[in-house]
Amino acid sequence: MLARARRCLLPAIRVLSASVANRIAAGEVIERPAAAVKELVENALDAGARRISVALTEGGIAAIEVTDDGHGIGSDELTLAIARHATSKLEDDDLVRIATLGFRGEALPSIGAAARLSITSRSRAAPHASRIRVEGGQAFPVEPAAGGPGTRVLVTDFFFATPARRKFLKHPRTEAEHAEAAVRRLALAAPAVAFRLVSDGRTLFDLPTQDAAARSAALLGPEVAARLIPVAAERGLLRLSGFVAAATLTRATTAWQFLVVNHRPVADPVLQAGVRVAYRPVIADGRKPIVALHLTLPLEELDVNVHPAKTELRFRDPASVRALLIGALTHALGGSAATLPPPRLTLTPLRPSPSASAPGFAETSLPLAAPLAARRLEPASPDPAHPLGAGVAQVFGTYIIAVTAADELVLVDQHAAHERLTHEMLRAQHLEHGVRPQPLLLPAVVDLPEADAARIAALGPALEKLGLQLEPFGPGAVLVRALPALLGPAEPAPLIRDLAEEFAESGEGMALAERLDRVLARLSCHGSIRAGRRLSQSEMDALLRQMEATPRAGTCSHGRPTFLKLSRADLERLFGR
Ligand code: ADP
Ligand code: MG
Repeated sequence: MLARARRCLLPAIRVLSASVANRIAAGEVIERPAAAVKELVENALDAGARRISVALTEGGIAAIEVTDDGHGIGSDELTLAIARHATSKLEDDDLVRIATLGFRGEALPSIGAAARLSITSRSRAAPHASRIRVEGGQAFPVEPAAGGPGTRVLVTDFFFATPARRKFLKHPRTEAEHAEAAVRRLALAAPAVAFRLVSDGRTLFDLPTQDAAARSAALLGPEVAARLIPVAAERGLLRLSGFVAAATLTRATTAWQFLVVNHRPVADPVLQAGVRVAYRPVIADGRKPIVALHLTLPLEELDVNVHPAKTELRFRDPASVRALLIGALTHALGGSAATLPPPRLTLTPLRPSPSASAPGFAETSLPLAAPLAARRLEPASPDPAHPLGAGVAQVFGTYIIAVTAADELVLVDQHAAHERLTHEMLRAQHLEHGVRPQPLLLPAVVDLPEADAARIAALGPALEKLGLQLEPFGPGAVLVRALPALLGPAEPAPLIRDLAEEFAESGEGMALAERLDRVLARLSCHGSIRAGRRLSQSEMDALLRQMEATPRAGTCSHGRPTFLKLSRADLERLFGR
């Protein structure tokens, strides 16, 4: 449609028949300035604009101005454009194949009823621009106006005609945030279109024509851009592409999830749930992933006429969409510590205090470090094939320091890293033939609250596959006969109490598979190298090599990073060199 609109004559606007109008998901569209901004920018995109500029005053309550260089509206069609159910975007009465963002013919009349609306437009063929004004639903005659090709829509005095609704508007700052979010979503969905957003005279962004990667990076910001993992996958006629942030970089809300279907930004439950499921094994509880994903599929696979704001869809085959999304994201996030972008340390260089740089200071009170260890902490030569480098030291009995061939300093949290490795090995065993149990020489009796003991007894057979052989032992105890061999000599009592807690927490509503995976996560914590344990050189190197080879090794089972990297350039920056 976009391409056709640019190539051919102006598409004619017509009023939909009553029967089609009745089949369109009806409802209030314009509940706040952001909704008007969204509809106006969608119209500009539908008109084939290459450049769209949005200016807000007081969050859009005082004024919204949207300017585009699209195909424009003929002066003889301006009156029709503001009529209810008048649209140029439905060629027949078929609501099945909808390629445009709009199709309901309701936005302009609704905005014209809520505020003062002025549309100035000039089609390429027209000798000059024309303007129409609507105020509180009252239209004025079309008049000649000044203006170049394209369309400029000005909306002022939001809800001036309905003071009761105006009361529900939030502070201009909040309304501006909503409007900005709406423009960002559309800008992400249409990277080939240049976008500018100005709010109360301040330019929030001014983006040239870009490819999808550059647009995502520009909108997500440099911190996120450095940690993006590309996603590309197909399934039948479905295509998924875009970027997701590594699991160690998360947000408190879903505001950083951009989901686009056939160029339309959506807030679709099927897609949102898919993102949640794919991230669950690698993200901290309660944190939200950052994603910018584009799904394209044939128009007939999709019904967009579900919700008045057109942000929810109905997929003809939601199971395929879900499988594609979860598969692609799991693959993207499943890289090992060797392939995922590492978390970056963001330290600010210390600024020397004026007294410290004063002459003479060093002589009186320079604190000398403890006698310097004479040992040279440099590996012979790190192997370029090892992205996590060679271990040079262990500090605080907790962290491994390694150096890579690319002159990077790597810090590894030995407990977090080993926990992930154990978790992945347990999971692999579980999926293959069940976790291998190691019988205890002496079965252990663990006392528990009765409810906990009963819950564990009920899960007995499923736990057997996890390498746990447990039996009820009276009302408030269980007998532990075997633990997973991988855990080595683990203490049964704290392990079983931890499991009881897990079962109490992840009770109702959680699928068994997920509950069992959480059990594996808990088990791996017990089998891991504790913080405080001293590691030999070869143990350090073995851990680093395993991290490089293990999927998801960049985060522990609770979503925290297992390692950090600092490049030579980072160090030089910190030292102000
Ligand atoms: P819809 O977008 O659902 O068709 P609208 O009320 O938003 O309904 O717009 C009505 C019609 O006005 C559109 O179908 C289109 O023909 C025309 N129109 C609106 N905005 C623009 C624009 N910026 N450029 C060109 N035509 C536009
Ligand atoms: Mg529209």
